Amino acid sequence: MAASLVFRLHDGGPELVREVLLERGWEEYDKGEQEEEDWNLYWRASAFRNSEYHNLLPWQRLNHHPKTVGITRKDCLARNLRRMRSTFGSTLYNFSPTAFILPNDYTRFLSEYTKERLTRGLSAYWICKPVDLSRGRGIFIFEDIKDLVYDSSVIIQRYISNPLLISGYKFDLRIYVCVKSFHPLTVYMHQEGLVRFATEKYNLSSLNNLYAHLTNTSINKFGPFYTTNKERVGQGCKWTMSKFRYFLHSQGINELLLWQRINNIVTLTLLTIAPSVPSSPNCVELFGFDILIDSKFKPWLLEVNYSPALTLDCQADVSVKKGLISDLIDLMNYRSIDSLRERAYQGHKYKQPCYQASQASQVSTLVLSKFKELKSQRRRRSGSQSSQTQTLPLLKVLCQHQPHKISQSQFRQHALVAGCQKYLDLNRIPVARGRIIHANIATATKTQTHTDRALNPILGPHSRTTTAVVNRHTRPAVASCLMDNRALYMSEVTNHDDTETEMEPSGEAYVCSAIPDIPQLGLGSLRSKPAAGSWKLPNIHRYRPVKLPLEGARAPDREKTPPLRVGDFILTFPFNKATLKASQNKLDVKLAIQELHKLTGQLASGSRQSDKKKWREEDMVKKDEGVRTGEEDFESLFWGPKEPLLLSQCCSSTNKLQSIAEHLHDTNLQRQSS
Ligand code: ADP
Repeated sequence: MAASLVFRLHDGGPELVREVLLERGWEEYDKGEQEEEDWNLYWRASAFRNSEYHNLLPWQRLNHHPKTVGITRKDCLARNLRRMRSTFGSTLYNFSPTAFILPNDYTRFLSEYTKERLTRGLSAYWICKPVDLSRGRGIFIFEDIKDLVYDSSVIIQRYISNPLLISGYKFDLRIYVCVKSFHPLTVYMHQEGLVRFATEKYNLSSLNNLYAHLTNTSINKFGPFYTTNKERVGQGCKWTMSKFRYFLHSQGINELLLWQRINNIVTLTLLTIAPSVPSSPNCVELFGFDILIDSKFKPWLLEVNYSPALTLDCQADVSVKKGLISDLIDLMNYRSIDSLRERAYQGHKYKQPCYQASQASQVSTLVLSKFKELKSQRRRRSGSQSSQTQTLPLLKVLCQHQPHKISQSQFRQHALVAGCQKYLDLNRIPVARGRIIHANIATATKTQTHTDRALNPILGPHSRTTTAVVNRHTRPAVASCLMDNRALYMSEVTNHDDTETEMEPSGEAYVCSAIPDIPQLGLGSLRSKPAAGSWKLPNIHRYRPVKLPLEGARAPDREKTPPLRVGDFILTFPFNKATLKASQNKLDVKLAIQELHKLTGQLASGSRQSDKKKWREEDMVKKDEGVRTGEEDFESLFWGPKEPLLLSQCCSSTNKLQSIAEHLHDTNLQRQSS
């Protein structure tokens, strides 16, 4: 019998997370029944307290990283992007509309406003937004400064007055981004997302009509035309990203550069805070990036949402968000059993908070000393012990410790601990077998390198992870290896990581910036090294099989390569060997930005294909000489199209782009007709 994974929801929601996790066989945390620390995932829309990060136990995950307010609060984001613009240049950091934080920047705004008026007359528009509100609350658009009235801290942004319209309706994109880890920076973007429409036709002569200028669902669902069947847009105010993609194809639009630019926006934005976010291996974060596309197909970043809405308002929400959460859980790489949580009750070391591994926690010290005492008494009485009898004192200790209550969970843990040794033994299996399987993969085909070999081996029955399916269709030899490989990997642990009420960063979220720095991996001598290895969670990177190096060659550092695809999540950073290296240890922001810049240039010019050819030729020579280059080990997928291509395939000639567009078009047609 194995322990179910346990989730804990703050304030009873979001309902969607509950639904997905229950379907996957998780249990919901019950305060009355379970111990305070007896959960695997704690989900809340608002920020966690500092102490919650500091007291995290190895099997526990939180759905927020600390200190991300630097991009999730409008004024902080504006300030950070301004800083990056002055460091790295406005050519790269030119994706957010010019912004002023008032009242502080009033004089600067006034001078810009005057300049605009002199050069462009009355055609410059501005949008005013309270810095700490969301869902369109308190927002208005103005042309004349006499209409600017505010009584709290606001940002004034240049209003993108030439948005791309569909049948006259304004829309923006909600892109879901998961930061699996900030150290090393590991970013996934979900291929599905939402397109959010205004429900009245765009018209610059009615700036007060929020139903025409704002795309928030929370506003438009109360509009008079919400349920009307609007030309091309249809009823409601949302499309799925797939539908939008289909629309682009039907218009003959080459979208690849658009997706890459959006990808760049996400990465460049995250790079603004990545070095200052404390390392927190037990956390993941799902951000909602709001992107507006203008009539010249330039994407603009409007804001980053801390807790993107997870309510299901319409069919588009259902098809996008359920899959999104399911993929996010897959990305967290939980095991179907949680033997680490079980073992916590067997041995002291696992009960140390992740960030305080060197300091014994009070509770665990008590448990440990009682446990040791009983254990030595038992030893004195009998020479040998079975694993079954070893578990008994634990329950007793817990009962003595809390004589008033023997919860269901304690009984459950007791029963489970008995089987724990079995799992411990199993842990040894993968290493040996993994090598054999990997050797098979290696001989199968070269294209395997962009598949997700390291995917969660034990995916629940409701897992949406599609990698193997995709690859079975496209690369049959690899797919079967993948499936075999998954079955072999039994491991011990869970791994780490709302409402059209898009939650605003609460006051609490802002407090996060006051968290003292937590010891961070590889961030220079100022930061202390993580203490005992015992607290470190195996993460998804670790399950990647280690390839046996060719004789005489150095073993490549492959275990750190994250899976390229998990469900509909595509790894977007790191995206090549250079960025993988840049993301290890101390994040090299400059190098990462250079690589991004290079890639976009290559995509635009199609030059990468020839580079690739050259590298391959060089690789062949090196291989003939018995040297493993590692180049083939990390070939990224391109975020954007539903059937992701290799990045190198996208960076080819215009003809190639054309055939890709045709392929995507056909795929979509097939999907639509089925
Ligand atoms: P909130 O957090 O309140 O949703 P946003 O910054 O996302 O604030 O703005 C709400 C909506 O206003 C956006 O979804 C978009 O439709 C519109 N909007 C915001 N900023 C701009 C801008 N600079 N130019 C054009 N439209 C904008």
